[in-house]
Amino acid sequence: MGAFLPDYNDPIVSILLLLGIIFAISLLSYGFTIWRQEVKNKEMLEFLKNFESSECTLDTENMPFDESMKKPLFMLALSFEKSGDYSRAVNLYLYLLKHIKENSILSHLAKAYYRAGFLKRAIDIYKEILYQTPRDIEVLYSLEFVSEQLRDYSRASEVLDILENLGEDVSKYRSHLELQVILKSGIERSDKFKKIAEGIDGSPYRAVMLRELFMLNAKDAWEYYCDSEFENLVDILWKLDIVQLNLDIISRHNSLKKLFWTKGLAQSSYSKDESIFALDLLASAKESGYTLADLSFKYSCTSCKSSFPLMAYRCPNCYEVYSFKVEVLVEKKQEKSSYSLL
Ligand SMILES: [Zn+2]
Repeated sequence: MGAFLPDYNDPIVSILLLLGIIFAISLLSYGFTIWRQEVKNKEMLEFLKNFESSECTLDTENMPFDESMKKPLFMLALSFEKSGDYSRAVNLYLYLLKHIKENSILSHLAKAYYRAGFLKRAIDIYKEILYQTPRDIEVLYSLEFVSEQLRDYSRASEVLDILENLGEDVSKYRSHLELQVILKSGIERSDKFKKIAEGIDGSPYRAVMLRELFMLNAKDAWEYYCDSEFENLVDILWKLDIVQLNLDIISRHNSLKKLFWTKGLAQSSYSKDESIFALDLLASAKESGYTLADLSFKYSCTSCKSSFPLMAYRCPNCYEVYSFKVEVLVEKKQEKSSYSLL
């Protein structure tokens, strides 16, 4: 009888048993992965229901889906987003997400919601992505950015902590956040000035802080002026009134003497070295008696190369911090009243 039963001391039986156990574990693991994916898909569909609304203007309800439609529809959604038609872009992203569960499309949906002004929806979507992939660096930066726009500085700071723990250098983001906390607080302008001035020495972001000091109190800001930051501040300096000038400090720097002589606020005693091309051009034109030209400014992001008419410390296109560069242009003078920063 014992000859018909397997002999557990037989090495072949042991190997077969081991292989059987490995196969069973693999099968269970595979089944668990499929089940978890199904649960995630159901959760995402439930989650997306929160965003279905009458704001959508495209009729995608009865549109049949085919895998080959994915790329053209995605490109169409991107073009809607680029042209500012966020409602249609959102509609298409939602349609794609019903059929393809990809975090990259969710991320685009969040960005479209942010640009359409639905910041809380964007936050919810970023949190949903992070629930599935907590170490998604790009999404963490986006969450930090939108949190900052919502003035939820504590959450923005927490996200920076996470990014730091993931090995990211977030020093400039932290510096920017600290500056925003001061600027957006309800304290007096003089207290904002003091707080910014306290941290200016040794800061690698001195030019940004000095710009804010000039915006808050130009007369007192001259105390912190450093000529190496002239090109970063030229737009702010150009807009100063005569009462906001510090003639003693101006007399010590050729760049300032040239700038304010060209504007007609200082004596002509500058030496003709090369500095900002547009300023040199305007100074030469004025020396020749031509006074119908003026300086104008635009701002370009060194990260994504986009251009903007207004200064921002964070690029609205790529969310990079302190990436704006001042570009100086010459334009025909327009009749307008002088602009005061005070
Ligand atoms: Zn940019």
